[in-house]
Amino acid sequence: MNEPSHPSDIAREAFRQLALRRIAPTPDNYQTLYHEIAGTPADEAFPERALKQIAASLPRHNHEALRIARDFDTAVAQADWAGLGAAITNAIAATDSQGINWGSLLRDLIAEWDRRQAGLTQARKREMLDRVLSASGTNPERLAERLQGLLRAWSRNADDDEPPAPIGDLAPPAAVDRTNPATPAFAEMLASLLDSIASQARPADADFATEARELAVALRQQPLRLPADALQQRLDKLRAGLEWATEDQHALRDALQRVLQLILENIGELVVDDRWLHGQITLMGEMFAHPLDVRVLGELESRLRDVIDRQSAIKLELSDAQLRLKEMLSRFVDRLGEFTDSTGDYHAKIERSAERIAAAQDIAELTDVIADVMRETRSVQASTARSRDELVALRSRVDEANTEITRLQHELEQTSELIRHDPLTGVLNRKGLDEALARETAFAQRRGTPLCLGLLDIDNFKQINDIHGHQTGDEALQHLTEVVRENIRPQDSVARYGGEEFVILLPDTGLEAAVAALVRLQRALTKRFFLARQQKLLITFSAGVAQLLEGEDPEQALDRADKAMYIAKRSGKNRVLAAH
Ligand code: GH3
Ligand code: MG
Ligand code: MG
Repeated sequence: MNEPSHPSDIAREAFRQLALRRIAPTPDNYQTLYHEIAGTPADEAFPERALKQIAASLPRHNHEALRIARDFDTAVAQADWAGLGAAITNAIAATDSQGINWGSLLRDLIAEWDRRQAGLTQARKREMLDRVLSASGTNPERLAERLQGLLRAWSRNADDDEPPAPIGDLAPPAAVDRTNPATPAFAEMLASLLDSIASQARPADADFATEARELAVALRQQPLRLPADALQQRLDKLRAGLEWATEDQHALRDALQRVLQLILENIGELVVDDRWLHGQITLMGEMFAHPLDVRVLGELESRLRDVIDRQSAIKLELSDAQLRLKEMLSRFVDRLGEFTDSTGDYHAKIERSAERIAAAQDIAELTDVIADVMRETRSVQASTARSRDELVALRSRVDEANTEITRLQHELEQTSELIRHDPLTGVLNRKGLDEALARETAFAQRRGTPLCLGLLDIDNFKQINDIHGHQTGDEALQHLTEVVRENIRPQDSVARYGGEEFVILLPDTGLEAAVAALVRLQRALTKRFFLARQQKLLITFSAGVAQLLEGEDPEQALDRADKAMYIAKRSGKNRVLAAH
């Protein structure tokens, strides 16, 4: 007999055999007979019943589990092995996201958030975080991965000025997952983020801040029960609010910058004669060309203060000089008045004398008149001489006053340029150093970042002066500061502490890195010789480096650096030592 090959024939034959062989018509017996007739191995059949039992016992306690169980159900119902495989793979993959250590990721993220990074403002960091949050959809793994990337970017070497590119190049999420990923750890992270956003909001954005706080509270209270769609909607709304607030702030900052620029231009118009003031104002104008940050604003403020001080000093000096000139002029006018009075009187008297002469009857009378005229003439002569002497004296005093004014003006130009900067080398002077120290100390204490001070003293500098002359010594100092400035970071400051001693401030730098920075300077000096009239001279220095301790007065730290520098000198010079 031919074996039936069509499924319906096989099925019919299976029923016939069940009856023929008097086998109990159970599904299992039917199945065994069916395969026997079809000639197919029994294990290739889809074990729907067994799989349904498994499906029934699958956990469905959260969105993710529910989704996996439903996929499983569908695959079983459709006898779909591939779908079943996908459901199992997804279930296993889902266990990965629970392996993300959100706690430590958050801790690291917050630490980096609080730290200061070169070239990364807080606003820029917020923008980067915002981008990561919105580009990661609701997939916790993707979010974790991108937050890790952000962490790596933020914790890069402080020398790195450029914000890292990969963050900006994040691709949009491939598909939006509608399930709520709010595991308690993730919800807590989101809530902290929302709290921090709310605390940074301006008074004008109070509504927005309230919504952020309320959402944070909801996330903390019922992290697993918030509907994903509602959460997404509220987050989207908040993000839009944040964007508006940021735009507002940018607009405000731009407007402020324009107003400041106008004020500066106006001051520039007011001070016509002072070269130094003009120089300062030009410098400040140039500072506006760069992105503003707290450091730039600090420097701007200190320069503006200088301008104001200088301007009021000049005003005082000039009005003083004016007052003196006025005094002299009024005395001169008095004298002139006296002089014309006396000469006017003289003319009247001469006239009267002339009348008396004309009317004179005898010589005795004439002799009287002549005696009078003689007396008057002599008195006029004396008065004239006196007036002339006084005029000469006045004139010389006016000259003196003028010379004094010119001298003052000149001195002003010479010294005012150097209020915070050393005239020879152009680096900060003691006053400039004091200000930079105060600023950097405050920064470091507020942010909890390290600040190091390096004190360096040129080795055997007296010899350079003795052998090559003072002028060459001066040029050597200029050469050293040039090399120093080329080899430190923009945020570092250098100041002339004394004759041939310099202080370098290294913010955001630990002791070891600061010592390394000073050693790098030593090497740079060996590479760039100083040319003293065609003759190569190697300048070396000895240095002490101190890290500012918590609550320590910067002067004390400088003192410790000085002591370390002294030990460096005593132990053979040309070395850098860390202070203890
Ligand atoms: P040491 O290695 O121990 O530091 O020896 P030194 O010769 O460098 O130190 P010392 O303190 O004995 O001499 C420093 C010299 O620096 C003395 C001073 O004349 C000179 N000096 C200070 N200020 C200036 C300056 O502005 N120009 C020049 N040319 N020399 C200066
Ligand atoms: Mg010295
Ligand atoms: Mg010296």
